[in-house]
Amino acid sequence: MGGTFDPIHHGHLVAASEVADRFALDEVIFVPTGQPWQKAARTVSPAEDRYLMTVIATASNPSFSVSRVDVDREKATYTVDTLRDLHRQHPDAELFFITGADALESILSWQDWEELFELAKFVGVSRPGFELAVGHLAEHLEGLPEDAVTLIEVPALAISSTECRLRAAENRPVWYLVPDGVVQYISKRNLYRPHDSERLDGA
Ligand code: ATP
Ligand code: MG
Repeated sequence: MGGTFDPIHHGHLVAASEVADRFALDEVIFVPTGQPWQKAARTVSPAEDRYLMTVIATASNPSFSVSRVDVDREKATYTVDTLRDLHRQHPDAELFFITGADALESILSWQDWEELFELAKFVGVSRPGFELAVGHLAEHLEGLPEDAVTLIEVPALAISSTECRLRAAENRPVWYLVPDGVVQYISKRNLYRPHDSERLDGA
C-alpha cells in the first residue's frame, strides 16, 4: 500500500486490514512516498518523519511492515518503480497494490500501464466522498484478466491526512483519527504547526 502518509491514519489501516483479510495476504507492506511530485503545491513533511509515523502506526500488527524503497530512491515516486523494487526483494511473492478510490484511476492512468499489470494486481477500496469506479479506464481493462483490478467496499472512515494536518495546525484533536503513537509523534516533532511567520497572533 503506497501513500504519502502525512500522517498515516485509521482510514489507511482499515483499508489495509480489510484487503489483507479478503485476499488472505501474508503481509501488507506500507510504502511511504519519496518526493511526491503530485503534491508539489504544498510542503510535504520530511520523508523520515512520514516513514517513522508509518512504522509507529503499524508496529503492533505482525502482518504489517514498512518499506523504505520509495523514501530511499533519489527520484520522484512512480508506482512502477515501487513495484519493480518490491518484486526484486520478494521474487516469489504475488503482489497486490492497494489504493483508495480517489487514487486508483490516476495511478492506472500513468506510464508503463502494461508493466504495472505484469508486476501486480490492483485493489481499489471504497473511500467516503469518492466514487469507486474505473470509469474511462474500462475500455483498456477489457483485454486484461478479470482479477487485474478488483474494487472492494471497506468500512467507511471519512478521514484524510489533509484533515488531520488542518486539525493539528489549529491545535484541534487528532486523537482517534490516527493511532495514539502518531498523535504523540506529531506533537513531539511539532509537525503541521504553522511557522512563526505564518501565525496571525505572533505567538
Ligand atoms: P492527503 O489528504 O494528504 O491526500 P490521504 O488521506 O489521501 O492524504 P494518502 O497518503 O494520500 O492519504 O493515501 C494513501 C492511499 O490511501 C491512497 O490510495 C488513498 O486513496 C488511500 N486512502 C486514504 N484515506 C483513505 C480512507 N479514509 N479510506 C480508504 N482509503 C484511503
Ligand atoms: Mg490522498
